[in-house]
Amino acid sequence: MKLTDIGTVKQLMGENAFKKKFGQNFLISPAVPEKIAQCGAEEGVLEIGPGIGTLTEALCRRAGKVVCVEIDADLIPILSVTLEGFDNVTVINGDIMKMNIDEIIGKYFGDAERISVCANLPYYITSPVIMKLLQEGRRFSSITVMVQKEVAQRLCAGAGSRMYGAISAAVSYYGRAKKMFDVPAGCFMPKPKVDSAVVKIEMYDKPPVDCEPDVLFEVIRGAFAQRRKTFFNSLSSVVEDLPRTAIAEIIASSGYDGNVRGEELSLKDFACIASKISDFRSRRGESS
Ligand code: SAM
Repeated sequence: MKLTDIGTVKQLMGENAFKKKFGQNFLISPAVPEKIAQCGAEEGVLEIGPGIGTLTEALCRRAGKVVCVEIDADLIPILSVTLEGFDNVTVINGDIMKMNIDEIIGKYFGDAERISVCANLPYYITSPVIMKLLQEGRRFSSITVMVQKEVAQRLCAGAGSRMYGAISAAVSYYGRAKKMFDVPAGCFMPKPKVDSAVVKIEMYDKPPVDCEPDVLFEVIRGAFAQRRKTFFNSLSSVVEDLPRTAIAEIIASSGYDGNVRGEELSLKDFACIASKISDFRSRRGESS
């Protein structure tokens, strides 16, 4: 069965069967799933949102074990037909946002050395899914995702660039993101309004900066909370337990001008400020 054939997709799904609320845009270009699988398949692969199994097939041909999580219960019987030729795949009906990633890894991948994520992500939850995978999936060696082109630019952006934001800084704590290739809107059915791109995040074995992650993420959130304000004003709106004078001192003692903006600061800068905030809090704790 050729799953990228429009007739096959329509026959499997039925006319007008695509569910907008699940962000369903299925691949109809045969080269694309092959290219994604080539970029991201490892010994074990977790796929989010297999749809009718187009990318899943390509993954099953390359990986030792593939586990996919699909929210739409109507697709589960379709997947059991389209994937029946593979004995290395497990399909789970569920919402990835409500699942424990470490449990999935432990239960299905056993002692596999390298486990990756490969997915054509539903556009409506791209950032929360990526953050969940980064924060919970300590054992992933890489995460390869197809996302809207603009999101791809944000994931890969460095400090100082127009697209740089909280998600860019957060991703750079866990790994190195690289855009692999663009995918035009015409490669999907139904055709989305915007083009997509595939991004691969190669996960670090250990974080590139040394500070408390919770405080680091508080600082990153603070830096981009109010984009039109200075870093000082924006950070002060989030770090509410420190006096504004202490925040100003921390920024100055880290070598930054009071007018600096969050988008000019790198992960290293955020880590330096986070360490000083942690120090301030522990000194305050000791003296009270
Ligand atoms: N992998 C298929 C392809 O490339 O043709 C389908 C990709 S489509 C963009 C996104 C898929 O994710 C759909 O099958 C949708 O039902 C599923 N999905 C949406 N939200 C989900 C969630 N929270 N958990 C798991 N799957 C979800």
